[in-house]
Formats: sequence, structure tokens, C-alpha cells
Amino acid sequence: MTETAWDIIVVGAGSAGCALAVRSADKGKRVLLLEAGPDYRSAHMHPAWRSPNPIRALLDPTAVENLVWTGLDAARTEKQAAAPYWRGRGVGGSSSINGQIAIRPPMEDFDDWVGWGCAGWGPDDVLPYFAKLEDDEEFGAEPYHGRGGPTPIYRMSQENWGSVDTALCKAALSAGHAWAADVNAPHAMGVSPYPINSRSGRRVSVNDAYLEAARDSSTLTIRGDALVDRVIFAGDRAIGVRIIVDGTVVTEHADEVILSAGAVHSPAILLRSGIGPSGQLRSLGIAVRQDLPVGYGLQDHPMAVVSIPLIDEAGIQSPDDRHTNVCVRYTSKPGAPVGDMMFVSQNQNVVAMANPDMRALAGAFGVWVNQVYSRGTLTLTSTDPADQPQIHSRMLSDERDLSRLRDGIRDLVELARDPAVAAITHGPLEAENKALFAVLDSDSELDDHLLATVSDVQHATSTCRMGATGNADTVVDPSCRVLGTDGLRVVDASIFPSVPRANTNLTAIMVGELMADRIR
Ligand SMILES: Cc1cc2nc3c(=O)[nH]c(=O)nc-3n(C[C@H](O)[C@H](O)[C@H](O)COP(=O)(O)OP(=O)(O)OC[C@H]3O[C@@H](n4cnc5c(N)ncnc54)[C@H](O)[C@@H]3O)c2cc1C
Repeated sequence: MTETAWDIIVVGAGSAGCALAVRSADKGKRVLLLEAGPDYRSAHMHPAWRSPNPIRALLDPTAVENLVWTGLDAARTEKQAAAPYWRGRGVGGSSSINGQIAIRPPMEDFDDWVGWGCAGWGPDDVLPYFAKLEDDEEFGAEPYHGRGGPTPIYRMSQENWGSVDTALCKAALSAGHAWAADVNAPHAMGVSPYPINSRSGRRVSVNDAYLEAARDSSTLTIRGDALVDRVIFAGDRAIGVRIIVDGTVVTEHADEVILSAGAVHSPAILLRSGIGPSGQLRSLGIAVRQDLPVGYGLQDHPMAVVSIPLIDEAGIQSPDDRHTNVCVRYTSKPGAPVGDMMFVSQNQNVVAMANPDMRALAGAFGVWVNQVYSRGTLTLTSTDPADQPQIHSRMLSDERDLSRLRDGIRDLVELARDPAVAAITHGPLEAENKALFAVLDSDSELDDHLLATVSDVQHATSTCRMGATGNADTVVDPSCRVLGTDGLRVVDASIFPSVPRANTNLTAIMVGELMADRIR
């Protein structure tokens, strides 16, 4: 084999890609990290993204410009029209624009992964990497935690919580939920402060945590504004990538190509490379290299809210006040998977941003299905890498998700009737949530309402699922190798067999950390 310039090309400088690229370069591998969006140093990040409240930046066009993919839409259910779906762009990927919530799934998730054929991904395998990636200032001394890792883990003290945080905490404790001070303890369940990846009140993305310290590495090359079109092959072996730079086609070659372009764009690159459902590929005139279920299996957490009309003193007082600090992980009923549901506080209503019927500054309680069965699809619309794929999330299409969200929203309404909420509310809840309260007592009408209004929480996963090689759903094997190919892996949130019972960022970083140790 001829000598290549790179041992590894990593496509995408997001949560998984940064961890993977930097740790691999630390081991002496020659790594080229390609990123479609801008490459910039930590000091040059738009200041709005440093804020503890990401809504500040999401409402600021100068902050969103270049760092959020445009033209990307998703239909959340078959009863909803397609609407924008946020994904991060530029170094740091989605970790640069996310809500900074730094929460691990319960370890039971990884028992499931092993059960689905992901050998080597059990709780004992992944826990050391959750510890390695973090610097937990409060619980770092616990055996299942870490100190000194790249990602700071911080919890806001209760006296600095917002009024909705405090109200959810009180209401949930009164309703019998336990207090769990550390939601990241392996089997934590109950009311918890939401940890965030923040230091001194400022976001720490994976660009800050991993790339910034590695800028002088002799083995890591970072290239921004490099849109990867597809993978180049010699026979079944991946030998490089075709890249669009300033409208010009460039190629780079490596011993190994690793896609870390996230759950939307890694499958899109595979599809353009001829790896995916054969019928879809043929309809676009793409030669079929491997017939695999790429893009099938998409998951996210479906969320419904009860809007809370806050009195002036209870609303956020500055655009930098944190939008949420409290979550309640709970089990829907005896026999259900543990922690299959989640309540969250919203000092500022995130969903209102996408919904013209809701006042943007109202507070809210949210409930989402945390352990999800429904699966959506992602398909290519053209072979042009500048075009965005089409997403049908098909949230709540599985009756088990719909029925748990139906029960969940009724439980949430009960929590919102707690005196702790009344103390921060002006006017009746019914007036603020007319459409919801009108259907609360009818299962079928409530289902229609949920299907028409449910939102995602930007936790896209599972579009290139990892699993046993004989399984019809599998795209990558437990070593993240794309089936039927050599020298090609996917390492990011696309490979999660299922969306974790937690926000997804820490799990994506964990996958990058773990694979950096496994790839020889
Ligand atoms: C608005 C928002 C809020 C969120 N809030 C939270 C939260 O509070 N807590 C949490 O845990 N999770 C949150 N998430 C989810 C979490 O951030 C993601 O699950 C995680 O960052 C995914 O990591 P990844 O490595 O799979 O992909 P990403 O971090 O998205 O990285 C993919 C990278 O690949 C690049 N790329 C894409 N296509 C190409 C191409 N063709 N060529 C080259 N590069 C390409 C992208 O520009 C991007 O930089 C949020 C996400 C969003 C969008």
C-alpha cells in the first residue's frame, strides 16, 4: 500500500469528532480533522454562545450565522409540517450551540446496548470514559466520576436557580419523587440539579475542551470550511474523501476514514457514497456499494409542555439567566424501563421559540419520553452535498411512546397545580394552556393534540445504528466499522442503538473517547 499523508481522516469537529481526533493525535496518529463550518479559536467565539442561556444566542442572528446549519427541516410527526431542526456547524459542532446540559444516561442504557449486540459497550466499558471526559467539581472524588478531564461539570447552587426550577423541585418532591443530588451517579433517579459543561459561568464546548489545547500538536491538522461530499473507495476499502473547498473539489487520502459528522450528516455522507437503502440510492442515480439501513432508526425525545404565565418578578431577569436547572428522571409505571420519562423546568420557554401560539417569555414545565420506541427516517433529496436531507422524525408513532406522553402530560398538569407554581403565576393555567386543557380528559383528543404540538429536544441519534452484524437494523459493528467495507467507521451520535435516557452530548463525547482507545 502507498504511504498516505494521514493515518486517520476524521470528518466533523463536533462532540465525538473532537474527542476522537485529539485523543488519537495524542497517541501519535497523524490526524486530519475536516469541518464543514468555520474553524476558529476559543477566544473568537461569538460572546452570546458563552452565555449560560443559549436562547440568547439562538435569538441573535449574528450568533447563529455560520454556526447553525440552515435549510435543515424535520417533520416531527405526520401531523406536523416540516420546521427547522437545529444542528451545530463549525468547530465544536452541536456542543457550541447546545443547552450545555451535561448529563449521563443511567447505566441500564448500556445493558440494553449489549443486549442489542453491541459487545464491549456495557456499563463497565463506558463508565471509565464518562469519568475520563469530565472534571466534576462537586462529585469528582466518587469512584464513578472524574477530576481533571477536559469537560467541566458544574451545578448551579439552589439559591441561584430560577423560579420555575424551584417550583418544579418543590412540586415533584411533594408528589413523592426522591431527591438525587447527582443525576450522573450510575443509577440516579428523581429530582436533580441539571449539571452543565460550564466554567466561571461560561460555556465550555469541545472546541474549548479538546481542540484549543491541541492546537500546537504536530500530529493534528484541523481544516475548516471543508464540506465532505463522500468517501472514496478502492474496491471495498475506503481510501479517502472528496471535499468541497470554496466551490472546488479536493481529495485527501488516509489509511482510515471516520465519519463524525453527527446523526444528520454522517448518514448523508454514507448515502452519497453509495451506502444505504438500495431503492433510495438507485432513485437518485447513486451506484449501490452496500445495501444498509442508513438513515432508518432516527430517534429524539418527544416533549410536551405546560406553559406557566409568570408574574414579572418570577421571569428571567436578564438574558443570561439560565433557562433550566432542574430535571426529574422517573419511571412511568411498575415494570416499565427505569427512568423512561423526564420532567424538566423551563425558566424561559424554549418551545415557545418555535411556536407562535406561545409567549416567548413564559415559563414552562416540560415532560419528555426518555426511553423511546418510535423511529423516524432520514433520506437524501439530491446528490448535492450542499442540499440538506429530508427528516421525518415520526415521533409518537409507536403507541408505547404516545400513551406514556399522554400520561406524562396529565401528571405534569398535576405538578403545575402545586401551590409552589401558584406562587409564581399570574392568571389561571387554563387560560395559558387553552388547547391542552380542552382535551385533557379525552384520550383520543389529547393524542391528536400531542401529535400536532409535540416538539423534539435536538437529541437526534441512531441513523447509523451499531449492533450485531447479522441484525437487519445494523449499519456499524461494535467496532463502529461500516458493514461490508474496510477502513471506514462512524463514530458519533448516529451509532447509538437508541436515544439514551438523557440529553445526548456527554454520550457522544464518551463514544469519541472510547473509540480513540480502541482504534489501533
Ligand atoms: C440546539 C441544541 C441544543 C442541545 N442541547 C443539548 C444539551 O443541553 N445537552 C446535551 O447533552 N445535548 C444537547 N444537544 C445535543 C448534543 O449537542 C448532540 O447530541 C451532540 O453534540 C452530537 O454530537 P456529534 O458528535 O454526534 O455531532 P455534532 O456535535 O453535531 O458534530 C458534527 C460536526 O460535523 C460537521 N459536519 C457535518 N457535515 C459535514 C460534512 N459534510 N463535512 C464536514 N463536516 C461536517 C458539523 O458541522 C459538526 O461540526 C443539543 C443539540 C442542539 C442542536
